[in-house]
Amino acid sequence: MRICFDMDGTIANLYGVNGWLEMLINHDATPYKMAKTLINMNVLARVLNILQKQGYEIGIISWLAKNSNEEYDEKVTNAKKGWLKKHLKSVHFDFVKIVEYGTDKNIVCKNYEDILFDDEKHNRENWNGKAYDVNNILEVLRGLVA
Ligand SMILES: [Mg+2]
Repeated sequence: MRICFDMDGTIANLYGVNGWLEMLINHDATPYKMAKTLINMNVLARVLNILQKQGYEIGIISWLAKNSNEEYDEKVTNAKKGWLKKHLKSVHFDFVKIVEYGTDKNIVCKNYEDILFDDEKHNRENWNGKAYDVNNILEVLRGLVA
């Protein structure tokens, strides 16, 4: 079974960075690096490591910026991977997919019980497994601990 996380607006507060939109339009990856965390990362890391030992695969499925090019995609990918290393360094993700803006997130859904945490309603509604918004991430994960 898989537990998949969106990043922007779900675990990373991209939209809370001052001037984020203008920077993205100018192909500046800084907001992806500067984004603060949206939940307690120590608690998240601990529960994810427990669930991974229980057999869950843990992964990221996150979109690149909307208006982009190859060079900016690379910068954003590095920024996002760096953010995960910085804030969730004890979590060894089974997969980290940084994909083109708008990509259907079901590319990482293998089972109707797979879980997605995503702040975008459209992604949750499209998901073929179980989808949750950002309000109860830790509660939902704790509920999976055996
Ligand atoms: Mg999002």
